Amino acid sequence: MRLKSVELAGFKSFVKKTQLQFGSAVTGIVGPNGSGKSNIAEAFRFCLGEQSMKSMRGRRGEDLIWNGSTSSPRAGRASVKLTFDNHDRGLNLDFDEVVIERVVHRDGVNDYLLNNSQVRLRDIAELLSQANIGGTGHHIISQGEADRALLASTRERREMLEDALGLTAYLYKREEAERKMAKTAENMREVASLRRELMPHIKFLAAQVKKIEEAKELRDTLVSAYAEYLKRESVYIAKVGQELADANEVPLAERAALDQRIAGLREELSGKKGGDRDTKELIALEARGRTARERKEAVTRELGRIEGELAAHTRLVAHQEGQVPAAETRAFATQVEQGLSEALSLEGAELTNRIKTLIAIAKDFVGRITALDVPAKEGEELAKRKRVLEKELCDIGNVEERMVVEVAALRRRIESEKDAANEAQRELFEAMARRGELEAQLVGLRAKGEMLARDQAAFKAEFTEAGVLLGREILEYESYRISAAGGEEVGTAEIMEESRTKQEGRRRALERMKIKLEGLGAGGGAEVLKEYQDTTKRDQFLARELADLETSSEKLHALIGNLTDTLETRFVEGIKKINREFDAFFKLMFGGGSATLSVVKEKRLRKGSTLGSLDVRSNLNDDEEDVAVEEGVDIAVNLPHKRLKGLNALSGGERALTSIALIFAMSQVNPPPFLILDETDAALDEANSRRYGDMIENLAKKSQLILITHNRETMSRAGVLYGITMGTDGASKLLSVKFEEALAVAK
Ligand code: ATP
Repeated sequence: MRLKSVELAGFKSFVKKTQLQFGSAVTGIVGPNGSGKSNIAEAFRFCLGEQSMKSMRGRRGEDLIWNGSTSSPRAGRASVKLTFDNHDRGLNLDFDEVVIERVVHRDGVNDYLLNNSQVRLRDIAELLSQANIGGTGHHIISQGEADRALLASTRERREMLEDALGLTAYLYKREEAERKMAKTAENMREVASLRRELMPHIKFLAAQVKKIEEAKELRDTLVSAYAEYLKRESVYIAKVGQELADANEVPLAERAALDQRIAGLREELSGKKGGDRDTKELIALEARGRTARERKEAVTRELGRIEGELAAHTRLVAHQEGQVPAAETRAFATQVEQGLSEALSLEGAELTNRIKTLIAIAKDFVGRITALDVPAKEGEELAKRKRVLEKELCDIGNVEERMVVEVAALRRRIESEKDAANEAQRELFEAMARRGELEAQLVGLRAKGEMLARDQAAFKAEFTEAGVLLGREILEYESYRISAAGGEEVGTAEIMEESRTKQEGRRRALERMKIKLEGLGAGGGAEVLKEYQDTTKRDQFLARELADLETSSEKLHALIGNLTDTLETRFVEGIKKINREFDAFFKLMFGGGSATLSVVKEKRLRKGSTLGSLDVRSNLNDDEEDVAVEEGVDIAVNLPHKRLKGLNALSGGERALTSIALIFAMSQVNPPPFLILDETDAALDEANSRRYGDMIENLAKKSQLILITHNRETMSRAGVLYGITMGTDGASKLLSVKFEEALAVAK
């Protein structure tokens, strides 16, 4: 990579487009004071991205633009172009020629262009750092800066050396990695805090979901238990109903036949002459007895029905009272209170979600309370009716008792009157006796029928309730397969064999399950479940994200470690090499003595520290948080034949010589593509000027040199000489004349 030319347009005193070609290894720029030579050195700084206006002798961007004169108006912009031959790809771009251009406008805006394409300053800086042209500008020594390397702080000197050793590219990479790492750490904190915020919500939802799942499980169990209960009950009712019908058949038929026979006999008896008074009375009594019996049956049936209804009603009321027991009400209150107090610390979507969940819980609770409004009146009316019927039954019993006494008395009387010899009458008595027996038998069967009716009513009530609670599923109870312990299906015979207390036990178990199920409160199930799934999914996503961030943080940490190691080793090795050269150059210039660079550690207050000014650093402990330990580079010199030691003991010329020795040493170890020295030789006497000239020729083997000078010795070493003049118009002019022959004469 070789510097081909620099082109200035509107830059400082160079109003017209001015191009300097660098065809020779050493180019000299000469001219009278104030003609604009240093402006050329500054044009280089400017184009390479210098941000310090001070180092270009300006206060703001505008100061760099041609300011106008009587003959030429001021310019709107200043631009500088550097053209490099890049056949060797010294600059990491796939072009044979690379043009870097910087433009500054009057409003202070800067443009950076790379082969005519707009780029960022950072792109230019990175490109140059790879080619050993770092940001500290160690390869451009401005006028009056001959002893810059000595004036610099130990830290600035270290940066200059890092730059000269080509370590800036690594520093860029490390800075980039550190920036990324800080960003990653920030992201990790954010993600972790998001997860922390989600945690109580997830816990709350998990508890809800657990309840919902328990309720679902219990409901499934209840469906099967109900199906078994209802199936057993329906089988039992059908079977008992059938048995009763069978049992009634024979006695009913016999009674019907007897009734006919009795009617015939009565007719026969009443047809007989003067059918006696007692017999008539007996018949009348018997007729009254029948009426009383019929009424008794009707009342008993009605009473049975009412009792059945009352039992079902009582069960329903008891059950509904159990729907919202105190414990559950308390649980509801706790749930709401807990939910609300947790909600206090939530925000945004989390808060909204929490409130939604709480609304679902409240809705469910209210729903259950509303179901409680069963009219109590219904029960009262049933009880009242029952009492009336019981009274009537009791009255009928009294009437019957009286009639039994009357019939017995009548019989005794008839018998004593010997009318009993009458065959028809005897037969009538026999038939009536048999009928009484049958009646007793039928009353027993009727009682069974009433029991069955009660069971049926209870079954119906239970079935309705199951339907309300569990829905359509329960309609299919008939196809439910009841399995015995061995797995085989339980049939009608086994169902009928079983004691009724077992079935009653099942019913009580159903009641307990229902109460428990209602206690769990299955309200808002789907919503809560969805919310829980969404929230856990989000949490899992965040967990993965956190893991990813941790991995990249670890990688960055390792990268930073590697870069730091590389920088350390290269720096230490580079310093060793530069030290050898420095000492040699120093000896050469001073005819003896010695010079050394040493790496020193320095304490520094971190940015934003409240501990005070940097001056207190000597009193700081290393382990204090605000203190950063930084490496710097110190210079120690020993002049030959002089007792005094240290940089303060040097004269102006000696300082310049020492500084030049260091600059040359750096350039020797890691030659920059070009070196611009603006009157670095100003303070040198004749002898030293010659040595300076020798060293320049030596350096020119590896780097292109651009020397701004008034020194004849230096001029004599240049392959090409440019003359800069300034006319009365205040504009610099370039004399593009080769002075080689002329200088040969001057020698
Ligand atoms: P010396 O030999 O004394 O160091 P020099 O040749 O290095 O002198 P410079 O310092 O480069 O001279 O040039 C300074 C000249 O440039 C001054 O005359 C100054 O007025 C002129 N100058 C600086 N900035 C501008 C500008 N923005 N517009 C016009 N002229 C400018």
